[in-house]
Amino acid sequence: MTVSSAINGTAATTGPSERRLRTAAPQSGFAPWKDPAKQPIIRFENVTKRFGDFVAVNNVTLDIYEREFFALLGPSGCGKTTLLRMLAGFETPTEGRILVEGKDVTGLAPYERSNINMMFQSYALFPHMTVERNIGFGLRQEGMPADQIKQRVDEAIALVELGKFTHRKPHQLSGGQQQRVALARAIAKKPRIMLLDEPLGALDKKLRNQAQFELMRIQEQTGTTFVIVTHDQEEAMTVASRIAVMNLGELMQVSTPGEIYEAPNSRYVAQFIGEVNILEGRVAAVNADKTVDIEGAAPGTRFRAPNCDGLSAGQQVWLSIRPEKIKISLEQPASSINTLTGRVDDVGYLGSISHYHVHTQTGRLTALRANASHSVERPISWDDTVWMEWPADAGVILKA
Ligand code: ATP
Repeated sequence: MTVSSAINGTAATTGPSERRLRTAAPQSGFAPWKDPAKQPIIRFENVTKRFGDFVAVNNVTLDIYEREFFALLGPSGCGKTTLLRMLAGFETPTEGRILVEGKDVTGLAPYERSNINMMFQSYALFPHMTVERNIGFGLRQEGMPADQIKQRVDEAIALVELGKFTHRKPHQLSGGQQQRVALARAIAKKPRIMLLDEPLGALDKKLRNQAQFELMRIQEQTGTTFVIVTHDQEEAMTVASRIAVMNLGELMQVSTPGEIYEAPNSRYVAQFIGEVNILEGRVAAVNADKTVDIEGAAPGTRFRAPNCDGLSAGQQVWLSIRPEKIKISLEQPASSINTLTGRVDDVGYLGSISHYHVHTQTGRLTALRANASHSVERPISWDDTVWMEWPADAGVILKA
């Protein structure tokens, strides 16, 4: 999925699959981060990593809780793999501490972190070993008795549903099957924490979607804490209990997928997740009913949105509105607040919904409309003059 920038009223554009972004977070009701009495299983304390003069990870403080499926999400080079590698012990922080199950592991080598296991993007399978031998490799290295190894390997094979392929070698498997062998090998060691670096990166789109649900099932069945690195926002939204959105080595927001989508804390996060319209303006009035009036940057435009703390008259703000919250119509609405008019300059028909890109006085905005029935023709088309309207509670005010 591609997301382009959406500043000053131009809407980001994404592909059809973005509708899945609204998928509810798994493990509904599970929120240990809200319980002040809960101790995290992983704690990054003011962790910084420099490579020479370059700051790859900048003063990160982050708690991850037992049984979470936690996603580190961000563009290439934002420091997410470095953060994961420090947790695994492959990199040492320049500053700060990492605690696992309450114990300082900052200076420990990977093999000394027996409660953590990592699955690499490359899978790193041994080509000359069968599936069974690959999965049992780590256990043999540990010197586990053969009967126990067999039991663990059988369990892992059942979990990833590879029963038919136990005697094959990696070159006789598809990409998806190889990924499952790598996962089974990591799981067979029964780690408390599993680190996955772009685990589905080598799979095609369809297989990837299927594998995401498989990962969620395995995570729930084993009760293992998963920390996944991904640059794919849709993947993070699908699998994670919480997501850390990173940029330039820093955590921009750490929240549930729903909060990140509905209540982004900055333009960066709003634009990184899904499709969004961003309107620029200044605070005109803070109202008694907990709303704020915004005078838009384009003359004559006025918007209303829920208040957020610390706003004062005249302050520059941005209003973020998701396209599905905008009502698009050929009729002029009665209200002039949260209303923009413009010309349709693009329509994307996606079956169940259509995207309308509308050129307005404040830039290009996107609205979505459900196509109620195949037999109903789209009433709005290219070059139509339309009105776009949204309720006061649909927008989110961003201060940065
Ligand atoms: P990607 O999705 O492309 O893997 P990422 O967010 O995982 O990106 P990192 O691999 O953590 O990014 O790298 C963060 C930054 O640190 C990058 O600019 C990278 O070039 C730099 N970096 C990583 N490892 C080293 C190293 N060993 N020496 C020097 N610079 C490094």
